[in-house]
Amino acid sequence: MSPFLQNRNVPLIRLPKGGRIGLSDFNLPLETPQLKDSRKVAGSNFIVTAPAPSPWDRRPQADIDIVLELSGYKRDGRKYVCPTCGHGAVTVDRQKSVYHCHFCQRGNHIGALARKVGKRLI
Ligand SMILES: [Zn+2]
Repeated sequence: MSPFLQNRNVPLIRLPKGGRIGLSDFNLPLETPQLKDSRKVAGSNFIVTAPAPSPWDRRPQADIDIVLELSGYKRDGRKYVCPTCGHGAVTVDRQKSVYHCHFCQRGNHIGALARKVGKRLI
C-alpha cells in the first residue's frame, strides 16, 4: 500500500453538497494587522506622528471650539465676539491656533486660553 494513503495526520475534509470548496469552508485564522508603536518611529525624519502626551499633564483634551466657548468667546458665523470689549471681530487662525481681537488688540495662542480654563488643546 502507498505510504501516502496511510498518513493519518491529514484531516478529512467533507465536501459540501455542491462539491466545491472555497476558502470559507476552512476555519483559517484571519491575519490581523499589528499596530505599530508610533514612538518607535520617532527617530525617522519622514514619519510624523503626534507627540506622546506628557505624563505630568493630566488636563482633559479640548479642541479650539470648546476652548473658545469656555473662555467666553461667542461664535458669530466666522468671527467670534470678544468677551472683553464685546467687539465681534475676533479672528481665529485654526492652522496656527491663535486668536486676535482687532478692537482691543488682545490675542494669544489658544493653548494659553486652554490652560486658563483647565483644558489641553488637541
Ligand atoms: Zn476685544
